[in-house]
Amino acid sequence: MPSKLDRLRDVLRVPPGKSINLKRDYDPGYTGDFAKKKDAQELLAAGIQQMAEYQSQLYAQNTYSLLIILQAMDAAGKDGVIKHVMSGVNPQGMQVFSFKAPSDEELDHDYLWRNFKALPERGRIGIFNRSYYEEVLVVRVHPQILERQRLPPELKGKGIWKRRFDEINAFEKYLSQNGSVVLKFFLNVSKAEQKKRFLERIELPEKNWKFSADDVQERAHWDEYQAAYEDMLNHTSTNHAPWYVVPADHKWFTRLAVAAVINQTLRDLKLAYPVISEEHQQELLKSKELLENEA
Ligand code: ATP
Ligand code: MG
Repeated sequence: MPSKLDRLRDVLRVPPGKSINLKRDYDPGYTGDFAKKKDAQELLAAGIQQMAEYQSQLYAQNTYSLLIILQAMDAAGKDGVIKHVMSGVNPQGMQVFSFKAPSDEELDHDYLWRNFKALPERGRIGIFNRSYYEEVLVVRVHPQILERQRLPPELKGKGIWKRRFDEINAFEKYLSQNGSVVLKFFLNVSKAEQKKRFLERIELPEKNWKFSADDVQERAHWDEYQAAYEDMLNHTSTNHAPWYVVPADHKWFTRLAVAAVINQTLRDLKLAYPVISEEHQQELLKSKELLENEA
């Protein structure tokens, strides 16, 4: 992919160990070197094709797995990213998990338990549509959710968020040291654009199903969510699992940026189809002969 997109990855990455300010440093309306959708269309199509090729090698190699985490406020475009960006990829090598409020059984375990079961196997790309990061987002914004978690009381108090950041960093380090590549995207939509998209969901009958009255209630906590996201980004963007803040007010740019970061990450793995052994090569020749000599 051209360098225009290469630069983008550095612009969007939350630098590990540095302190960012979401509002000051990341503009939800940013579109990089691209003025309009049309400028990006060809690149996105090429990016999707390239991703399909990388994914095919990832699958054949069966060594690495790629875990993509998507976090965002409602209507930021998570679903659209999954649908469009992954459209060229072979469904056999893909899996998507959407994490909702935990079930009774899940609440009887530690919060990472349900995530373990959903991790992509080697050779696969797995998407977490929301993730264990909700444990430092929605749970932080709504203390009553933490109240309902069956933690020992002495573990619910002060210091819990810092502890969870540390736990998550350790978990992701463990994954990366075992062949999983972890990529995390925060789709950064503005409050004004979210309102526009909610109104559209209310006004257009075919979009009504996407809207829930709860979404407006969550919106009332906008500033608390932004603060929780900022703290999360500042504590959990690491070299082994960096966060990317993707501008989300223009859907076409969101998709282009996510595809670019995924492709550059896969490119860095230097994937290749497995080299056939001498023995396998002989077998291929033998089979060819058999087929050709069939009566
Ligand atoms: P959509 O775009 O379809 O609305 P969504 O991801 O918002 O997608 P919903 O079913 O609307 O899906 O929301 C899932 C809800 O589950 C969110 O409100 C989220 O905060 C909540 N949730 C996810 N993980 C947890 C968790 N660990 N604890 C509590 N709530 C959680
Ligand atoms: Mg929702």
